[in-house]
Amino acid sequence: MTYFFETYGCEMNIAESAAVEQLMISRGWTKAEHPEEANIVVINTCSVRGSAEQRILGRLGYFAGVKKVRMLNPHTKLRLEDMKYAAEFAKKNGAVPLNLVLMGCMAQRTLDTIQDDYPQIDYVVGTFGKYKFGEIIQNIENGGKGFKIKDEEVYTFAENSYEQGAFSTFVPIMHGCNNFCTYCIVPYVRGRETSRRVDQILAEIDFLTKANVKEITLLGQNVNAYKGEDGTTFPQLLEKICQHIDETKSSIKWIRFESSNPNDFSDELIEVIKRNPHVCHGFHIAAQHGNSEILRRMNRKNTREEFIELTKKLRSAMPDVQLVTDLMVGFPGETEEQFNDILTMMDEIKFESSFMYYYNPREGTPAAKYPDQIDIEVKKARLAKVIDLQSKHTTEVMQKRIGETIEVLADIVSRNNENELLGKTEQNERVAFAGEKKLIGTFVKVKLTGLNGNTFKGELI
Ligand code: SF4
Repeated sequence: MTYFFETYGCEMNIAESAAVEQLMISRGWTKAEHPEEANIVVINTCSVRGSAEQRILGRLGYFAGVKKVRMLNPHTKLRLEDMKYAAEFAKKNGAVPLNLVLMGCMAQRTLDTIQDDYPQIDYVVGTFGKYKFGEIIQNIENGGKGFKIKDEEVYTFAENSYEQGAFSTFVPIMHGCNNFCTYCIVPYVRGRETSRRVDQILAEIDFLTKANVKEITLLGQNVNAYKGEDGTTFPQLLEKICQHIDETKSSIKWIRFESSNPNDFSDELIEVIKRNPHVCHGFHIAAQHGNSEILRRMNRKNTREEFIELTKKLRSAMPDVQLVTDLMVGFPGETEEQFNDILTMMDEIKFESSFMYYYNPREGTPAAKYPDQIDIEVKKARLAKVIDLQSKHTTEVMQKRIGETIEVLADIVSRNNENELLGKTEQNERVAFAGEKKLIGTFVKVKLTGLNGNTFKGELI
């Protein structure tokens, strides 16, 4: 049996796809080279933006055609050359069904209706039912008909989310969000915050040590709100993980975490990071906006001043810190003056980089019903200004680092030059340097010599 995953959206989806893939591998299934030739195609979906859902609906249309070709249906209207792998597979193997599975946030949001609207979907499994994925696998092996996995009350963490052969991997530690920012769909599709047991997290870390993993990213929608079963807080967990890594002489050297909420970024957390060299000094902390009134309407629970104060604390505690943020323009009611507060905050903080986007209403969230929606052209123009400013700041910050010699985790061969490797710094920046393939998965020293867009050029020392 063969499988193929199409994963959209955030790191949590990547981790959840990897966990389900582990299940298939353990049953002796193998990865298909092309989705059109697989026994099962899993589309792991994202609901955060309407555009992500539109793209997935387009893929569902495509797979409806692929399924017909696979079943040698002569009435298939799509041209065969559009899906030559499916046609070749059917010619060689006869009518072998392709089982289409929809999982993740969009599946959760539309759990009760999507199969009526898109009958090409054989199985639907939401975020709270995915640990029952084994039932789907079993059913396909038995040649059974598709079904919907019924939702469960409680989110269950997979034993491990390790992607075969990876030296850098995600470790989910908490799930869901209690914050209900007025623009965000996450609390509705991922549910309330729930945290994984400390012993289970450490057991996964032991597994990753055996797999010679070098870098982990602790994951959660609101990762620093972690609350373990015995009251363990996120700073305590982080400290425990660092100690465990040292005690077990783990291969893991770098620890990252995301996504962080500014309200849960405590002084205690900053202290733990400072005294534990395993924790990387690059943080992704979402600001979303630079105006306190807009932040209040977003239900963000922090002011502009409080956010700036947090970044100052981080920079003074760790002079090499790099800050990445999320910035949203065009929230309902945003005036030109309020928008300018984003730009002035950016000037004050000088984020090393940002994820920038304009507000897009999500059905089912309070802000989608706000009457003072901003015109799309205004949103686009504001976003362009934010992107320009960020690009200026990123270049300035990167220019200053040229000449430094730093540690880099070599991770892939460059697409443009097979003699060149790409790696990442502790602060999660990209560096390109000449090096042999055998260095992939190892830490090397690199001198930063220049810039190519947002990637450093470097020389191996
Ligand atoms: S903190 Fe806000 S933006 Fe982040 S997941 Fe929770 S509700 Fe969404």
